[in-house]
Amino acid sequence: MIKKTFEELKLTGQLPSPPGVGMKILKLTQGEDFSADEIGRTIMADAALTGRLLKIANSAQSAGARPVTTVSEATMRLGVRAVRNVALGLSLISSYRAGACSAFSYDRYWSLSLARAVAAQSISRAMRIGQPPEAYILGLLSDIGTLALVCVYPEEYASLLASTGGNRRALREAERKRFEIDHAEVGSYMLEEWGLPTAFADAIQHYEERTQSREETDLTRILRHANCLAEVCLTTEGEKVDWASLASGLERMRTELGLAEEAFNEFCNAIIREWVEWGATLKVPAQKGVDIARIALLAAQQPLPTDELVDASALVDGTPSSPSGGTSVVEGSKSDLTQEARVPQASLRILAVDDDAMSLRLLERQLTKAGHKVLCARDGNEGLQLALETNPQVVIADWMMPGLSGLELCRSLRRIESGRDIFFLLLTGRDEEDRVVEAFDAGVDDFIAKPFNARILMARIKGGQRVIELKEQVETERRTVRSQVAELGVLTRKLRTAALTDVLTELPNRRYAMKKLEQEWDSSIRNNRPLSLIMIDIDHFKKVNDVHGHDIGDVVLKETANVLRTTARQGEEPARLGGEEFLVLCPNTSLVQAKACAERLRAAIEANKIRGGSFDGHVTASLGVAERTADTATPDALIKCADEAVYAAKSGGRNRVCASPSLSTNSTHAKAG
Ligand code: GH3
Ligand code: MG
Ligand code: MG
Repeated sequence: MIKKTFEELKLTGQLPSPPGVGMKILKLTQGEDFSADEIGRTIMADAALTGRLLKIANSAQSAGARPVTTVSEATMRLGVRAVRNVALGLSLISSYRAGACSAFSYDRYWSLSLARAVAAQSISRAMRIGQPPEAYILGLLSDIGTLALVCVYPEEYASLLASTGGNRRALREAERKRFEIDHAEVGSYMLEEWGLPTAFADAIQHYEERTQSREETDLTRILRHANCLAEVCLTTEGEKVDWASLASGLERMRTELGLAEEAFNEFCNAIIREWVEWGATLKVPAQKGVDIARIALLAAQQPLPTDELVDASALVDGTPSSPSGGTSVVEGSKSDLTQEARVPQASLRILAVDDDAMSLRLLERQLTKAGHKVLCARDGNEGLQLALETNPQVVIADWMMPGLSGLELCRSLRRIESGRDIFFLLLTGRDEEDRVVEAFDAGVDDFIAKPFNARILMARIKGGQRVIELKEQVETERRTVRSQVAELGVLTRKLRTAALTDVLTELPNRRYAMKKLEQEWDSSIRNNRPLSLIMIDIDHFKKVNDVHGHDIGDVVLKETANVLRTTARQGEEPARLGGEEFLVLCPNTSLVQAKACAERLRAAIEANKIRGGSFDGHVTASLGVAERTADTATPDALIKCADEAVYAAKSGGRNRVCASPSLSTNSTHAKAG
């Protein structure tokens, strides 16, 4: 079922695929035998890719070794397969830096993937497991399935991100519900598709799972550790993440590496430095976050119940994890404030910023008296920090302050997503009034002259409140529309699946078969691989209808479809073309192999006892097999050949297999006698 879902994803043509050079490498290396020279030449045509590949090759070297300076040297040291995989993985980054899913942070996605890559490489080297450069690519592609789902379903994915807050575990469940497949499964199919080692596919399927199985593979273990470290890379100290789980993940890694605390911290810090460096090379944001040595302490101090915590690896755009911490709360605790973040109500969350203590106290008293929740900051910098941490609805700030002025504070807030909707009220002195145009340019919503009259202040706040409520109303409506659009997307997808499935037998239908045939046709030419078809037509089926009725005819069709479904092996894809005709696509299969398959199917149909109404017995079928040859011009021509073979089987006496072109006279009839 899941594999079929993945095939459907493929049919959309929207799955991420390596561009230019990457695609060329992919094609060059699809078979078993490919030349190192040819790959080298292809890579060298792309200077940036060459540089990055050499960088990876060199970081895999032991200290003191002579640096690798050419692609062919890298190929010699790492092996042609590793070089191919590295080039493939690296080429992907450049094409998927942005996309159609508004809620998805592509930057954060690559930043996390890059952190996993760098960490996996170092861990692989330290644990002496696998090849470090390949571990790097495993890390880089560890979440490729998410990118795939985002590419195929940008809008639906935005609504999943909104409903799960980007929490990875919740997201995985939601994906399964919506798409019948989750990012880990999609990713693992994609890696298989690209010819990366199956151990890679296996590792990316399991590394995120909470429970660690005893048979966990080495690569899964590496990726699990790398993932933990990547979350550390992207987390800052003020965030409300599950520090305890990060700490225990790190501790597990430390024990497995057999390092003392100090050496382990240095090991992690080296990885973080390397990540920052790689970020600059690949133009992916990478900035050192929390101090690794503080994590155990933060875990010990964590006061929050786990369900309020933010997922460090969430990929939601524009919502830096809700923060906590800080000290200068005047009234109400900060967790109070964050919980009420989305409820529009008469009481506003207001941040007052003024370096004049008297004026600040006055503001606080009057606003509190009017029923608002007030936080105070004594200068612009403190104000900015508190605004980022507590996400207030209104900021009232003095213009002239040491450090960050009110105007600069406003500009800084307008630059970030969460600061754009804040209603910003500027306090001005008498001599600043003629400069208010400048203030409006900086993004200030309104101003009030000092010393202010309490009634005027309240009137301005009321004006602000109307604006805030309207904005929130618009946001709610936007969310509703977005979720309706997503629902529509699900419906469309269901319709699409229905459009590709035969109602009676639930096999893929003619449309699917034809699309798939075209795909396989192209791929077989591109990769110079065989492609065969088996056409199946039930014998004397009209008689079944005539004698037993149309309903029983339907039962026979369903039963026969079931036989095909259960007898076909991996890679052989049965479909119903219509009436009592079926087709089995056999990619990568020669005529001889396809004939063997056809004979297996024929025997299974004949052996299958069918009971329904007055029918009690068996049906047989005639099968025609055809293989694409240099003379077969189009997919239609191939079908025609298979059709002719069916005709030959019918005229040869039915219940047999014929091939086109026929192999030899005595093997044409698979059935003896
Ligand atoms: P042959 O061995 O030469 O293939 O003979 P045949 O009777 O199987 O072939 P023919 O093409 O003459 O008959 C096919 C019949 O299948 C005619 C049509 O009414 C019947 N049929 C087509 N679609 C369906 C269906 O969905 N359900 C049922 N019950 N019958 C169908
Ligand atoms: Mg027929
Ligand atoms: Mg027939």
